[in-house]
Amino acid sequence: MRFIITGPPASGKGSVAPFITKEYNILHISTGQMFREEIKKGTALGLELKKILDQGHLVSDELTDEMVRQRLNQDDCKNGFLLDGFPRNINQAKYLDAYLEEKGLKLDFAIALVADKDIIIKRLIGRRVCQTCGKNYNIYFTQPKKEGVCDLCNTKLVKRSDDTLEIAEARLQIYNEETAPILKYYEEKGILLKVDGNLKESYDTFLQIKEKVNAKWLLLSQKEK
Ligand code: ADP
Ligand code: ZN
Repeated sequence: MRFIITGPPASGKGSVAPFITKEYNILHISTGQMFREEIKKGTALGLELKKILDQGHLVSDELTDEMVRQRLNQDDCKNGFLLDGFPRNINQAKYLDAYLEEKGLKLDFAIALVADKDIIIKRLIGRRVCQTCGKNYNIYFTQPKKEGVCDLCNTKLVKRSDDTLEIAEARLQIYNEETAPILKYYEEKGILLKVDGNLKESYDTFLQIKEKVNAKWLLLSQKEK
């Protein structure tokens, strides 16, 4: 299966992703994560990227498209993938389609999480991340057992540098202007699955996704017969 998952910042893409990749035995590819890894390495490119991410802006299509292309070319993507954070605008969506078409492949589903603005803002400014194991917490919704420390590995939790109120609002605006139009793009292709992103438990979000994917899959396979 080949999926993309989209939604406003903090709509829960990153938390629901592991359930999806396990269910369909596919790889999770997060462009935001890839950028943050490059920043952590402290390369020249990383420094450039940090400036962009800290302002809540989007990285250029050229750079992002190329990074995704190289990643998808690797053997471990053969079984399918869940692209998280890409495409983020119509041009990237078209780039992905062209890339897949060239390989004789196509995208199966575009999952779109839909969430309310007030929930998104709280999730963003309250988000705390474990830099060792990657687990996310939230000071409003899902606190760790011991304040400021990861339950799983005891590491000190940190706030992402782009998770401030000002940046959160900028990212949300960019989402509405640049990313939201891809929903229509995928709807017209008949592969859009809209899912409620307001739920508290990522597992419940996953169950909704699974149900919709399997129902649509069945419908499509019947049509083909
Ligand atoms: P969130 O899920 O919280 O919105 P991500 O981790 O997906 O954040 O992305 C963090 C940042 O990385 C974005 O704000 C943007 O600057 C950059 N980024 C990630 N994916 C893309 C993309 N496909 N195109 C351009 N910039 C991107
Ligand atoms: Zn941890």
